[in-house]
Amino acid sequence: MTEELFREDSYLRDCDATVVAVDGNSVTLDRTVFYPLGGGQPGDIGTLSWDSGSATIVDTRYGDDGSIAHHLEEGAALPSVGDAVNAALDWDRRYIHMRMHTAMHLLGSVLQYGVTGGNISAEKSRLDFDMEDTVDKEAVAAALTHLVAENHAVSCRWITEEELDAQPELVRTMSVQPPRGKGSIRLLEIESVDLQPCGGTHLKSTAEVGAVRIGKVEKKGKRNRRVNIHLDD
Ligand SMILES: [Zn+2]
Repeated sequence: MTEELFREDSYLRDCDATVVAVDGNSVTLDRTVFYPLGGGQPGDIGTLSWDSGSATIVDTRYGDDGSIAHHLEEGAALPSVGDAVNAALDWDRRYIHMRMHTAMHLLGSVLQYGVTGGNISAEKSRLDFDMEDTVDKEAVAAALTHLVAENHAVSCRWITEEELDAQPELVRTMSVQPPRGKGSIRLLEIESVDLQPCGGTHLKSTAEVGAVRIGKVEKKGKRNRRVNIHLDD
């Protein structure tokens, strides 16, 4: 299994690692800072370099065995198993994903409805809400701006299912119920705003989200409102 360095520190931009497998264009390392596609967040891209070469990483995905596969561009030079490499993120893109992802948590705390879907990209991100009401875009935008300006601390912690069972009040305060059966659960907390299980990469404080604009609100069925957001720089 790949050591997932981004789970403990989402601000790591690169890491040294050792190649443990090469399968076609896909390279598995013993450790990585690359986030694999999941939870609506795209897989990271960047550069893999080693003594005798380098290659562009065009996607990152979980492999069938649960390890993390770095997909290299077609025709790229390949490292060999055992090679020492450096894996460096396209940090600008990842940082936008972190801002978007953290903004999604804020949006979910402003619109207190069930979330039925979501997607993050550098251009825009969206959440689908189980709601019939009309979305007041100006009010939602103002609430988001307020939460950003208040600069709430954002942190992650791991908790075992036993610890969770011993604190039922914690489950009651969560906006999304945690998945069971894996032993431990990663919780994302935005201080006094949001607490929920999440495996993604987030900022360390809401101020870093910056300026957020509400985009289109789409009616995707009687009980579904899709809210798009954009970052304004
Ligand atoms: Zn999250």
